[in-house]
Amino acid sequence: MNEHDSERIGGLLAADGMAPSTSIEAADVIVLNTCTIRENADNKLYGYLGSLRAIKMERPDLKILVGGCTAQKDGDLLMEKAGWVDVVFGTHNVNRVVELMDHADEWGPVTEILEETSSFDDFPSYLPARRQTPHSAWVTIAIGCDNSCTFCIVPAVRGKEISRRFGDIIGEVKALASEGVSEVTLLGQNVNSYGRDLDINGRSPVFADLLRQVGSIDGIRRIRYTSPHPKDFKEDVAEAMAETQAVCEQLHLPLQSGSDRILAAMHRGYNAERFLSRLEMARRTIPNLSVSTDIIVGFPGETEEDFQATLDVVAQARFDQAFTFQYSPRPGTVAATLDGQIEKAVVQERFERLVALQNMISHESNQAMVGRSEEVLVEGPSKKDPGVVTARTRGNRPVHARGEYEPGTYLTMEITEAASHYLLGTVVS
Ligand code: SAH
Ligand code: SF4
Repeated sequence: MNEHDSERIGGLLAADGMAPSTSIEAADVIVLNTCTIRENADNKLYGYLGSLRAIKMERPDLKILVGGCTAQKDGDLLMEKAGWVDVVFGTHNVNRVVELMDHADEWGPVTEILEETSSFDDFPSYLPARRQTPHSAWVTIAIGCDNSCTFCIVPAVRGKEISRRFGDIIGEVKALASEGVSEVTLLGQNVNSYGRDLDINGRSPVFADLLRQVGSIDGIRRIRYTSPHPKDFKEDVAEAMAETQAVCEQLHLPLQSGSDRILAAMHRGYNAERFLSRLEMARRTIPNLSVSTDIIVGFPGETEEDFQATLDVVAQARFDQAFTFQYSPRPGTVAATLDGQIEKAVVQERFERLVALQNMISHESNQAMVGRSEEVLVEGPSKKDPGVVTARTRGNRPVHARGEYEPGTYLTMEITEAASHYLLGTVVS
């Protein structure tokens, strides 16, 4: 969502006549679009702002803008901590970035944070975008979140959930397809609750309808989405995935913890057994499904026994990939006020055990791909070697192979080798 917003900020600045700079030193305007999901994201912002201070001293005309979730959360505090910032804007007024910059030019530093968005029309999806990749695009289907996971700052900084109109989503994807985009990733904090607040001829559209409709648009070859919430992930969506050719065989199903006690304290609305049965249903319904997850280690009150339960579920679930996080207390959330905050060293030690187990499983899962022939979508030259191309399978696994191909090209590769986090292959056609 943050990258999606950054593309719109870039689009607005480009529409105002600006061009991307090649270096910080040469830039006239610097925009930091922030994340506040964990404390280290906040720390990065303030560390980076510190390093910009000297540049601003030397060049007072330089404009520094800070937007996004940390700006939404900290508001005026941000200016107090970093008085050399020119503009602070929140998550609900991205569309105002150019006006706010002009305002700062004339009148001095300005902070503008709105408490909420009243409708989807205020959301940056309608703004021009400057995309990193011409063949692949984010498409927002809902903003905000109505859940109340006790560890999570998102509802506080992104506001209540609002679904985007069905026809507007389809319209955007059609427009993208006509510009040459062949892969879309549908975005929402809980995509399974999409449409509950909408009405089409007396009925609320559901996410499964959306998958089928987007899947019928000419030119769209790959559809991904994030995130489904395990409490709401049902057969209808799995069936729509299986029946819609363009929807990739990939599911990101965030577990968070394997302990029923901790899941209840997190307010997640499912237990380990329900999670595993939904996962089993998804795998049964969608052949060759790749599954990734998110896990938090060290939630307040987590005992060694709770953590063992997480390891047990990870071993049973056999995720192809997991994004693992150390719990970070977020001011204003329920979990930050709970007793039993866990010592850093204990969290670190558990975290390492979890990562070791998951790396082994990921490696085995990638190993099972060796010898297979896979359709891959080229992302670009590998960061390390321009003679090597990096591409992605439908299951979202990165593959590297010798050769030079344009980003956005579809190739068939034979998978020859596997590591925990990537595959190697050779181009067949
Ligand atoms: N809406 C998504 C999650 C978005 S946040 C969902 O419900 O699945 C992305 C991930 O960040 C979460 O899945 C969680 O694993 C992690 N996360 C969120 N808050 C966190 C916190 N306070 N500490 C550590 N990890 C956190
Ligand atoms: Fe946060 Fe839970 Fe909403 Fe995801 S579903 S954004 S974890 S509150």
